[in-house]
Amino acid sequence: MILLLRDDVQPGEAVYIALCTQLDRLPGIRWRLHEETGTEKVLREIYLIGSTAGLETADMSMLPGVERVIKVSQEYRILGRHKGSERSSRFEYNGLEFSQDNLHVFAGLCAVDNEDNVAATMAALKACGQITTRMGAYKPRTSPYAFQGHGAACLPYVFCLADEYGIAVIAMEVTHERHIDEIEQARRQVQARCGVMLQIGTRNTQNFELLKAVGRQKRHPVLLKRGFGITLDETLNAAEYLASEGNTRIVLCLRGVKSNMGEPHRNLVDFAHVPTVKRLTRMPVCIDPSHSVGIRAAAPDGLTEIHHATAQGVIAGANMVLVDFHPRPAEALVDSAQALPLDQLGLFLEDVAIARRAYEARCALAQRAAAQEVTLLGLAQ
Ligand code: PEP
Ligand code: MN
Repeated sequence: MILLLRDDVQPGEAVYIALCTQLDRLPGIRWRLHEETGTEKVLREIYLIGSTAGLETADMSMLPGVERVIKVSQEYRILGRHKGSERSSRFEYNGLEFSQDNLHVFAGLCAVDNEDNVAATMAALKACGQITTRMGAYKPRTSPYAFQGHGAACLPYVFCLADEYGIAVIAMEVTHERHIDEIEQARRQVQARCGVMLQIGTRNTQNFELLKAVGRQKRHPVLLKRGFGITLDETLNAAEYLASEGNTRIVLCLRGVKSNMGEPHRNLVDFAHVPTVKRLTRMPVCIDPSHSVGIRAAAPDGLTEIHHATAQGVIAGANMVLVDFHPRPAEALVDSAQALPLDQLGLFLEDVAIARRAYEARCALAQRAAAQEVTLLGLAQ
């Protein structure tokens, strides 16, 4: 059960204290305040956890400061969409809005290899008007002998260059709680303006202690990858781990699932789940065509299969694209087979924009159909 508080109710005030006193008296119930800071106001909600089945909505809505009560009928208590609640599916970070309605492309290096390549990548991004990127410093690798990423050592130059080229947000994987502090230390050291979206990789989707640690920090949003060998439901529950620790600024990233049925692709592309995640939860949805497809092969039409997979995700309403580029893909130290050449960034972005326009046209069509009370192609519901 969720209690939505009135706009004027603030922690520390008499009404709030009166509410807390009453909540503390409920047997078998724990509760937690959750605040979402929007552009105009702070949304305050109280999550009731425990034996809530016996609580009457009518009684709870009489409690001091409560505007509305939402019965949580589904599994994903915090991130899910619940009947009678049109809660926000957007958040702000470092001047950017992330939502289920817009689209950001995070093109960049799978792994930071050297300063020159970081500078070249960021210069190309800037030339294309991009202010978001991906930069891997901590790389989870199958072999212990493979390049593991430069870790904390590369962070100061990555952040300095990001500021120099006007990058606002970098997606960067963390594989250990300690990396969050290292990132913060480096940002402080160079007084970085750019922000970091903390990425949890597919190998750590169910690393519950890492999820709790990343969820406890509220400074940075989180990009949670789908686990490569688990169901969508299990991944959405992993996202709830982050949210239940306090951080609800989460983007969920589809990146394919491991199955030889996907061959010759690295993974079986699962972008048909883009609208599914949007229906089940309020999270913006990212697609990672690079780690899904895993190879740069071009189809006879001249577009690579990575371009095609990207278009499939974007035309289905994806809100973020995480994609590997490299100035010289053959020299990339990690995942060189899937990196797109940096000199093709502009074309890639144009292709994404075409798919996005097609998605917007499809939404307009659905709206028109809804207005006429026509069920679109007989498929909806
Ligand atoms: C990555 O994005 O660099 C990465 C390692 O992805 P994944 O966790 O999806 O394999
Ligand atoms: Mn990679």
